[in-house]
Amino acid sequence: MSELKRKIARLIEAAGPISVADYMSLCLLDPEHGYYTTREPFGEKGDFITAPEVSQMFGELVAVWLYSAWKACGAPAAPVLAEIGPGRGTMMADMLRTLERLDPSFLSDAKLILIEASARLSKVQRETLGQRAENCTWIADVGDLPEGPLFIAGNELFDALPVRQYVKTAQGWRERMIGLDDKEQLAFVAGAGSLETSLLPEGADNAREGAIVEIAPARTAMMQRIAEALARRGGAGLFPDYGYEKPAIGDTLQALRAHAYDDVLAHPGEADITAHVDFHALKQAAKSHGLSARTMSQGDFLLGLGLLERAGRLGAGRSHGEQEAIRDAVERLAGPETMGELFRVLAVTPSTVTVPPFTSAH
Ligand code: SAH
Repeated sequence: MSELKRKIARLIEAAGPISVADYMSLCLLDPEHGYYTTREPFGEKGDFITAPEVSQMFGELVAVWLYSAWKACGAPAAPVLAEIGPGRGTMMADMLRTLERLDPSFLSDAKLILIEASARLSKVQRETLGQRAENCTWIADVGDLPEGPLFIAGNELFDALPVRQYVKTAQGWRERMIGLDDKEQLAFVAGAGSLETSLLPEGADNAREGAIVEIAPARTAMMQRIAEALARRGGAGLFPDYGYEKPAIGDTLQALRAHAYDDVLAHPGEADITAHVDFHALKQAAKSHGLSARTMSQGDFLLGLGLLERAGRLGAGRSHGEQEAIRDAVERLAGPETMGELFRVLAVTPSTVTVPPFTSAH
């Protein structure tokens, strides 16, 4: 049994079952044994590969988008360029290299901020950025951002924030909790807490017993705080993630370990735990601050920003093998069978601003 499993079992023995949201938080960010606090999750040797780790082209195109957003907002002075949940720091490194080429004066005028909850990952990010780290500031919370118009990106941030789950029982919807079974193993149980019916998705009335719905107050709260900052200071945000556009019934909680799906209760702290993002809820949160919130598939987003042209330039004069690897990366990032469809990109801007490839129709 892992250290964290023992700790969670003790917690449950002492105080009763814990929510899926608390379980997720403990698994990911427990100060002693959490996944992000103790492990190296990303890359070929880790448990999963994110878009910035697939290819430098991803961070380059995100930088191009943030820069166009800054221009579309009237190129305000002293902008804050921030990334939230930067993982290994790869995307920030790719963005800074691109912006330096695109417009060195923008970069020297900008405050560069990395928002990271894990002290260990902040250290990894510092190493990845090398010399460039000297111009960057690390903060642990959105509330600590310095003043100024904000241009912020966060790849696969929201899927890592906890969700709550509710399960349909004979007595109605009950919060899905994690308790101990008669063999002292972690097991799902129906808790006492219920759910306000206005929060249920369409069709929930007719759901069969055992059906599950997810709501994510922590994600909505995070988007509320980011949107509040954007509305007050001006600026724009870009959030690629995987998820769905229409709230539905279903259990999307998943654990990944060594590039394979794992039982979510089997290895707390040793596997990545995420749940799909409800883009509808995030959009509603942004819109409640008077902002525009638009989504499109990651494939359309990257192709719309010139992924193929960028790949062509990157491959020019390279060996056959290198060109093959670049083609492969394009397929993984934008192909319908890989990240291109399931991954979506959420853009939050002032309501008067549209930044391509988004149009007012999105
Ligand atoms: N963006 C990176 C990493 C994604 S994993 C990539 O695409 O490779 C999620 C990241 O969000 C990790 O760096 C994790 O430590 C961080 N994180 C989780 N909760 C956070 C929070 N509340 N505030 C800031 N960062 C958070």
